[in-house]
Amino acid sequence: MSRVEKAPYQIIIGLETHVQLKTQTKLFSRSSTAFGAPPNTQTSPVDIGLPGSLPVMNRRAYELALRTAVALNCTIPRYTKWDRKQYFYPDLPKGYQISQYDLPMSCEGWLEISDSKDAFAPKRVRIIRAHLEEDAGKSMHDEAAGKADSRIDLNRAGTPLLEIVTYPDLSSPQEAKAYLEELKLLLLYLEVSDCNMEEGSLRVDANINLHIDTPDGEVATPIVEVKNMNSFRSVERALSYEAQRQYEVWQETGQTKGQVPKQTRGWDDQAQVTRGQRHKEESSDYRYFPDPDLCPVTTTPEQIEEVQRQLGELPAATRARLVSQFGITPYDADVIVNQGRGVLTYFEELAQASGDGKQASNWVQQDVLRTLKETACAIDAFPVSALRLAELLQAVRNNEVDNARARTIFAEMLGSRLSAREAMKKLGIEKVDASDLENLCRELLAKNPHVVTDVKNGKEKAIGSLIGQARQKNPNVNPNDVRRMCLELIAKE
Ligand code: MN
Repeated sequence: MSRVEKAPYQIIIGLETHVQLKTQTKLFSRSSTAFGAPPNTQTSPVDIGLPGSLPVMNRRAYELALRTAVALNCTIPRYTKWDRKQYFYPDLPKGYQISQYDLPMSCEGWLEISDSKDAFAPKRVRIIRAHLEEDAGKSMHDEAAGKADSRIDLNRAGTPLLEIVTYPDLSSPQEAKAYLEELKLLLLYLEVSDCNMEEGSLRVDANINLHIDTPDGEVATPIVEVKNMNSFRSVERALSYEAQRQYEVWQETGQTKGQVPKQTRGWDDQAQVTRGQRHKEESSDYRYFPDPDLCPVTTTPEQIEEVQRQLGELPAATRARLVSQFGITPYDADVIVNQGRGVLTYFEELAQASGDGKQASNWVQQDVLRTLKETACAIDAFPVSALRLAELLQAVRNNEVDNARARTIFAEMLGSRLSAREAMKKLGIEKVDASDLENLCRELLAKNPHVVTDVKNGKEKAIGSLIGQARQKNPNVNPNDVRRMCLELIAKE
């Protein structure tokens, strides 16, 4: 019997995610938030901190934040306010960031994560708080291009961010990745962010340390904040690397939490290592105080109820419904829901119209998704509508065509935009009628007496050699029908 080796430590992870909200304009000014404009063309006196300019809250940003907080099961306090977080950095011209300190707009929520392949047990990841704040500008260091200068682009300064902070409830890099995937999916379903990591719309920092069992009891390693992770995959890798690194450092130095200050380390994706950056400020270093330029915000229970009513079905509930309504597996439901609302709607229409959830799920996952990927097409622009595909799936179920022929028809429908019936007609595909099938089989058996002998001696498999011949004579015949008819004829002899 093999023994399961127990890891020498437990991993403790908390995540902090900054989500850029999908607004037209900035959190406190009317500058555009569109990505990719020439540097410093989307700024206003408020964004660049000119004296005398005054911020005004973007109501839309607050609504998107509220929708997200409600979907994350957060408590929404009646009263919230804005605070100045002071620090100096060239990309922060005001010398402070407008954020929320002791009275965030939401707190104490949760997001449930699970794995459709049961890699870990389902769990609720608790959320400490989600608050609104403005983004800073961007520093561009041109060292790589051989230049010594750094430049500042303030287009991003003032863009609304929702910062979502979890409790340290995640116990493996895989769970951390699963949380991020579920959070991203939720945000996409809520239509509050485009979640584009490459454009910085979703940024993740992780706090990680280890609890190690020793003969003298459990000890904790110093907490490290890991930054610069540009994909969910790099989050998983960085955390795996960091856990092992902390264990090795602890074995070498014996240093535990509290003996050294909290450290920030950056993930180097090229080298696949984390590197020390700086020691982290404590929140008291920021000298937070309420922003005197901005009114506090109040949210009534009626407003929260209204948001709740308009949320719609969220991904976790949708997965469960697909399993019960269409009889597909949790794994298949997960794949479909994870594709986003467009593919989900397509699947639901297809399953409803064709009347077979499993068949619909197979076709969506194999043929539809593959075609979308190969042609870099969005589901909204997919040339074969769910209703037209349903007609084809019904033809398969009525035994008019087999799956192989159905794929040929599907390819024709994609190319020529014909309906299933029209495509079948064009390709000359039609159901072979019973007497034609019988005549064909008689002819084949007469030509192949050895097959008849083999079958009579109990080798039913011998029929297989007739299928190819049958299809050569009539490409429309269904292999199963040929097999069944030949056996019937032989039995009657
Ligand atoms: Mn922040």
